[in-house]
Amino acid sequence: MTTVEAPLKNVDVDEEPIKRFEVNYRGIFQKTLAYRITKDLVYIAHSDGKTAFSNGRYSDDPQRNGVPCANFAFFSDGLSEEELEAIASAKMDIDRADIVAVLDDTMVKGLEPWGHYGIRPINEKVVPGGTLLVISRRPPEDLVQFLEKKPFTYNLAILPGEASFAGLWYYRDDNTDVRVLGAVARISPEIISLDKAIAYVRKTYKNDEKVKALEDAYNSTKLSVVSANDGIVWPHRKPVLPAWNEFDEGIVVKAAPREFKMGPRGLGRNLDYKRGTSKTQRPVVRFDICTKCTLCWYECPDECFDPTPDGLYDVNYEYCTGCGRCAEVCPVNECIVMVDELNFKNDDSPWESFKKDPQSYTKMIEEKKGKGRMMPSHVTGKGESMSEVSKPVPFKVERGN
Ligand code: SF4
Ligand code: SF4
Repeated sequence: MTTVEAPLKNVDVDEEPIKRFEVNYRGIFQKTLAYRITKDLVYIAHSDGKTAFSNGRYSDDPQRNGVPCANFAFFSDGLSEEELEAIASAKMDIDRADIVAVLDDTMVKGLEPWGHYGIRPINEKVVPGGTLLVISRRPPEDLVQFLEKKPFTYNLAILPGEASFAGLWYYRDDNTDVRVLGAVARISPEIISLDKAIAYVRKTYKNDEKVKALEDAYNSTKLSVVSANDGIVWPHRKPVLPAWNEFDEGIVVKAAPREFKMGPRGLGRNLDYKRGTSKTQRPVVRFDICTKCTLCWYECPDECFDPTPDGLYDVNYEYCTGCGRCAEVCPVNECIVMVDELNFKNDDSPWESFKKDPQSYTKMIEEKKGKGRMMPSHVTGKGESMSEVSKPVPFKVERGN
């Protein structure tokens, strides 16, 4: 992987005069944000004499909190609106994109949208020479370690920033919308030019701060090239939709198996829809200080806890949506803490790791937790608060065997 000044030139596979943009966002939390981005891209392209339109993936509605969703925008210099719509959009999903934008960097671990089965790579649709644009504070190599290998080179653009939750029912504007426009202008001036983007934002929002945010994003977007075969062999089964002549007669919806046994993965769950890619953070558990009060198991809305033979509760991360409810109700200080999902490489049972080597497990999760603790507004009622843990809770030896 090498850092570059300008992105690789996109080679359009069919030489169609169309550019395709996809934005991946967290359902509900980022819905309005994603809509504003694709809508503004279309207006800016129109102001430059291009044909353009945007739409959303039909199967993502009704949306679920945090579930990966996508909006699209299409651009052409020569086609009429009808031609562009007929070629680019007469299908439920798109199969390739010149720019794939990602509003929450934890989505690089894969996507399981609501209307699809199976976990798909985030870079699946990037064309040769195309660009994966991620909002992240991480260096490129931290993201590439989760991406599927491609047989060709493409660009990775990183727009420095956090996963924005602007876009719930009430739009809490934090300028992420215009920042993404600035990054797109940097990556692909053929889609929108910086001048046209600035003129549009100045006229539409009448706010100098937004213009500055756009320009800053244009200048701060970092570009690197991902070489062929950088990344990993995709660890998940990719879903393949059946052809029309492969459907069974009538409609058969198979029920998820209902079963229960003690220990990790003991609860029967839906094997076709796991939901785990909905999360930005995961709960880590200090089994050594757990009082076995049952509250996490009882309160988890997704039934992610498996009772274990020693009276503890294991988390199944494949199904955890990262809602944070267990961390909120756990009565023991520092026993369940929500941690950035990108700090973890697999969904292995934390209880099994603990049983294997209690001290190493506890040390490992304390390192991943770090010292900062953020309390979201819905818990404090007074906005986000940040605090620092001065001393970690010491390892409780008697539980560690
Ligand atoms: S964060 Fe906790 S409560 Fe929420 S889904 Fe995951 S395990 Fe369940
Ligand atoms: S809520 Fe906390 S203390 Fe209670 S069982 Fe779960 S992890 Fe243990």
